[in-house]
Amino acid sequence: MNNVINEKVLCDAWDREHLWHPYTSTISPLPTYKVAGAKGCVITLADGTELIDGMSSWWCACHGYNHPVLNAAIREQTESMSHVMFGGFTHQPAIDLGKKLLEMAPDNMHNIFYADSGSVAVEVAMKMAVQYSIAASGSHKRTNFVTIRRGYHGDTWNAMSVCDPVTGMHGAFGSALPIRYFLPSPQSRFNGEWNPADLDPLRQVLAEHHDEIAALILEPIVQGAGGMWFYHPEYLRGARKLCDEYGVLLIFDEIATGFWRTGRLFAWEHAEVKPDIMCIGKCLTGGYMTLSAVLTTKKVADVISGGEAGVLMHGPTFMANPLACAVALASLQLLESQDMKARLTELEARIRELLEPAKEFDNVADVRVIGSIGVVEMKNSIDDIGEFQKECVRRGVWIRPFGRNVYIMPPYIINNEQLTLLVTQMLEIVRKLP
Ligand SMILES: *Cc1c(COP(=O)(O)O)cnc(C)c1O
Repeated sequence: MNNVINEKVLCDAWDREHLWHPYTSTISPLPTYKVAGAKGCVITLADGTELIDGMSSWWCACHGYNHPVLNAAIREQTESMSHVMFGGFTHQPAIDLGKKLLEMAPDNMHNIFYADSGSVAVEVAMKMAVQYSIAASGSHKRTNFVTIRRGYHGDTWNAMSVCDPVTGMHGAFGSALPIRYFLPSPQSRFNGEWNPADLDPLRQVLAEHHDEIAALILEPIVQGAGGMWFYHPEYLRGARKLCDEYGVLLIFDEIATGFWRTGRLFAWEHAEVKPDIMCIGKCLTGGYMTLSAVLTTKKVADVISGGEAGVLMHGPTFMANPLACAVALASLQLLESQDMKARLTELEARIRELLEPAKEFDNVADVRVIGSIGVVEMKNSIDDIGEFQKECVRRGVWIRPFGRNVYIMPPYIINNEQLTLLVTQMLEIVRKLP
């Protein structure tokens, strides 16, 4: 496999001049490759080059692309309506999806708020926590948040404020961001020894500042875009106890971890710890459309509704979009129709086996795998993403590293041959990095 990159066909000059891609400079943009189509686990570029997808399109396309069942769900929904406002109206796709979500979520979840994207779900969750705290305490003081470093919660304002202060966007926005309480990320690894000292910083901050803190927000077990770190479930058990002790809410951001990504339906199951508020997104629609949801307990919902405002102060235009709800329901039914636990156990074992040789590379600091996530942490950061991706395209795979992490998060439908090729090519590229 050695593709010749046809720059004329693949890198559009108009696009380069006018379209702003994510985290990209307009002066020296990274190359972007024009995609003509995608099916299963393969993305086809405009010149016919085929790439095995290692990213699930930023972790959302869990069933792969162009799935006949998901295609049909959207097509059928367009026949009745694509959208109606959710204020004063409801519809069957929203109801059916909600019922399915409550079957899947922790059993203390009772109320569902649909939102547009992961970041917006995090904003809504944080607004819920603040409205709850004000209503429950009768004081306007308890409105701040505590979180752990290496986290990622999205790109909107409040979501940014709880992202890791170093790898996140705090540098670029400085004093424009609200100041949060940051704790060290738990050092105890998933599947490693538990060190109880990991909980000391949380215990201390809550003891000193609980009367200013509405909630602890974190990604359970797997910290994604903030550092690709997998930590010990005992941290969540301890955090739950401390939050209860101090009357602080616990928010789980399961936007990346939900829907089997970590080998369980949701990551809270690794610890058997239930949150007060939970955000889901990404794989929710099988990667077809943007949709997220915030789930919470009856207590949180009722306290907010009994408070000063009397309502939750949020209502997006495209709330509970019927097309998105219909495809999400179809995606969840697809997951339910298969033995996902067995599939993820198999995928995890295979990824672990294929990544094993990287442990011996001089430039590699750590290799870790959970569910369908395989990470090679380098000793040095990968500075030239453009060159890395060019090499990927030449070799027929699609991987986008960040910081010191080269990782894969493929669609669950990837077959053995594709996975072997993806990881072998990835290791060939990794081996040559500085
Ligand atoms: C991707 C992600 C978000 C943001 O979701 P968007 O849909 O990109 O706004 C929030 N939290 C976590 C954990 C994520 O991985």
